[in-house]
Amino acid sequence: MTDVVSSAPGDVADRDGGVSRAQPHEHSRTGLSADALHRAIADHLAYSIARPPSVLTPEHYYRALALAVRDRMQQRWMATTQDLLHGPAKVTCYLSAEFLMGPQLGNNLLNLRIERQAREALAALGQDLDAILECEEEPGLGNGGLGRLAACYLDSMATLQRPSIGYGIRYEFGIFDQEIQDGWQVEKTDNWLVAGNPWEIDKPDASYLVNWGGRTEQYEDVAGNHRVRWIPRRVIKGVSYDTPIQGYGVNTCNTLTLWSARSVSSFALDAFNTGDFYKAVEDEVLSEKISKVLYPNDEPEAGKRLRLQQQYFFVSSSLQDILRIHTERARLPLSALPDKWAIQLNDTHPSIAVAELMRLLIDEHHMGWDEAWDITVATFAYTNHTLLPEALETWPLGIFGDSLPRHLEIIYEINDRFLEEVRDKFPGDTERERRMSLIGEDGGKSVRMAHLATVGSHAVNGVAALHSELLKASVLKDFYEMWPERFGNVTNGVTPRRFLALSNPGLRTLLDETVGDGWLTDLDQLRRLEPYAEDPAFRERWRDMKRANKSRLAEYVHASTGIELDPTWMFDVQVKRIHEYKRQHLNVLHIITLYNRLKRNPGFAIAPRAFIFGGKAAPGYFIAKRMIRLITAVGATVNNDPDVNRFMRVVFLPNFNVKNAHLIYPAANLSEQISTAGKEASGTGNMKFMINGALTIGTLDGANVEIREEAGPDNFFLFGLTVDEVEQLKADGYRPTAFVERDPELAEVLELIVDGTFTHGDTEVLRPLVDNLLHHDPFLVLADYRSYVDCQARVSAAWQDSDTWSRMSILNAARSGKFSSDRAIAEYSDEIWHVGAMPVTL
Ligand SMILES: *Cc1c(COP(=O)(O)O)cnc(C)c1O
Repeated sequence: MTDVVSSAPGDVADRDGGVSRAQPHEHSRTGLSADALHRAIADHLAYSIARPPSVLTPEHYYRALALAVRDRMQQRWMATTQDLLHGPAKVTCYLSAEFLMGPQLGNNLLNLRIERQAREALAALGQDLDAILECEEEPGLGNGGLGRLAACYLDSMATLQRPSIGYGIRYEFGIFDQEIQDGWQVEKTDNWLVAGNPWEIDKPDASYLVNWGGRTEQYEDVAGNHRVRWIPRRVIKGVSYDTPIQGYGVNTCNTLTLWSARSVSSFALDAFNTGDFYKAVEDEVLSEKISKVLYPNDEPEAGKRLRLQQQYFFVSSSLQDILRIHTERARLPLSALPDKWAIQLNDTHPSIAVAELMRLLIDEHHMGWDEAWDITVATFAYTNHTLLPEALETWPLGIFGDSLPRHLEIIYEINDRFLEEVRDKFPGDTERERRMSLIGEDGGKSVRMAHLATVGSHAVNGVAALHSELLKASVLKDFYEMWPERFGNVTNGVTPRRFLALSNPGLRTLLDETVGDGWLTDLDQLRRLEPYAEDPAFRERWRDMKRANKSRLAEYVHASTGIELDPTWMFDVQVKRIHEYKRQHLNVLHIITLYNRLKRNPGFAIAPRAFIFGGKAAPGYFIAKRMIRLITAVGATVNNDPDVNRFMRVVFLPNFNVKNAHLIYPAANLSEQISTAGKEASGTGNMKFMINGALTIGTLDGANVEIREEAGPDNFFLFGLTVDEVEQLKADGYRPTAFVERDPELAEVLELIVDGTFTHGDTEVLRPLVDNLLHHDPFLVLADYRSYVDCQARVSAAWQDSDTWSRMSILNAARSGKFSSDRAIAEYSDEIWHVGAMPVTL
């Protein structure tokens, strides 16, 4: 890689452990030596934190170091931005309603390659880097996988030196904090901005006006052209907050722009002048509501209108920003838009962009329809993230037309022209037209956002090979038949910087010593580990590394739940959002099966296991909340029963987020990826586990299929129905009771849940769960029960031979290279965006 950080002028950052020479001439804002950092922290303590030394807390040191680190990215950030604005390179914009960034300090130190220097600088000030890193509150601006994917992609785009901008929403309150009280999830507001955010820079001068509601009006312009203007009911201001995204070992430092909603002061002033002070204040409150809170997914109808407003708000601000850069900074003609920009839509949340770009080009820039449409389609690409019908976004026509009257007109026009194309290609197939229309007719008219995104994009991709195939065969089948060339696959990936180097320092050291450090930017180099799977001494070191990670997690578990775990036990982990399709309850059925066996046969023994769960349930998702209650209830019983707690413990770790994910993935022996086949689009947790050497027990779903292919079938625990078998069973009529009738052990397990064994005699609280499994379970839990329990027995057998297990674990990590987000971003760059690297020189 060229232009590495360490080749920058005056730059002494070195990888690992070289002596840091004092460079008195190094500037305290930019110098990368421990000495310069030391001076910088002291400087920020005095001039930015402004507290006397006697009252300084670790939080103050965190803030001072964060500011010092941000200073160090500034020069690279400005250089990257300058090249992006004025150079010829094509820029990728990643539009996403969620960015689940995780803590920034450690990652930025890693990517600037100044971890050791920071540690030394803090030590000289009497502080410990690890304790300081702990002080950071993570921005929880995402629900789970989709938001974390966006964050991994930002890291890879910067590291691969692709000029890019992430665009999203600066939610004042991110995903709620989860507490467990009496075994139930309790939601607390996430006040992540309370202590301030040292990473962002607000740009009040870079703001845009965004309309809402009202009506449209036709008029003729001076040249006699027929035009439409939008007379909004409200106008809101989008103010940008920019965060630097530093690539690893390169000068590229990209931007994440998050929009915050403000009232338009002139409007408020009008009301004030007419004496209506409270109207003015009210307007301010209403406007700022838009970026107030992140909606949990899996949440029913409530609050829909505000959600549409959030989506439109950030999309319009972003597109206006792009057009302003394009015309005023880069000074390019609008016809060159697709040559300068590739805009990726992360799911349908930003898909209103298709209609908004058309509106901006036609109404504001007076372009003709055909040219505007060609530009739009050439600029956008769309990533689909779900096949679950309930998760495919649609907006009731009434709400949509009220809120975005001009966009509804534009969508009708897009639809008319599109359906004409459908008629041309499939004459007389009115049923197909009805299915493909952008306007759904079933159950009240609605706008179908996935159709809008598909029609308005030149490329559509799924997020794992299986998912992309299913997309073409199911929800987007008609569109695939219309435009097969638009469809492709990009299997998700995760960044090896955060999810290996940063969160698993033990493995990082072991890898660096064994295969060198090239894996940080070329994860395929982990293949060089393969021969070491046969080396007993190496296997021993591998186990020691895992053991240390497990001790670290056990400490955290103890501190947050009071439960003690033995790091010599198998750590069997399922962390992800709580959802019926992810089937945490299937996992619990296995736990209860073991519990039941131990209780019934006093001589029975199993290889000891810690079952660790984590994940948030959407606040309004009744069954998911009871799934948490089931886990905590079984946990309380198991952990306190001396007959069984010598063999098993069950933990529900509260508030799963990126920060504690750093402790969890590296400590896992077994990764639970047990969704119903066909339901998990890809998963990325499965990849984080694999990279860290966990073995997977999983179904043939999402990226599990590719994980198994890479690891080799012998190094993967496969169970359960395939997609085809799931379909077949459903077509034949799934009768869960049939599975219970022919499996007495399953019958006993279900009985234990409803007879009050785990709930102090309460026979009602968990009944809805069991009723669901027995009477209306689209996720076929009971159908996969026997296969899962038998597979878990194979897992236990493999675990008992520690050399077998270590060999499999090493091979999994060694073969995880495909799941780097660098590979995914290289594919997007080559196949969809057509963008190359833009090395930045200082
Ligand atoms: C990776 C990750 C997820 C996604 O996990 P899946 O197992 O793919 O559903 C969710 N939340 C956090 C905090 C993550 O790091």
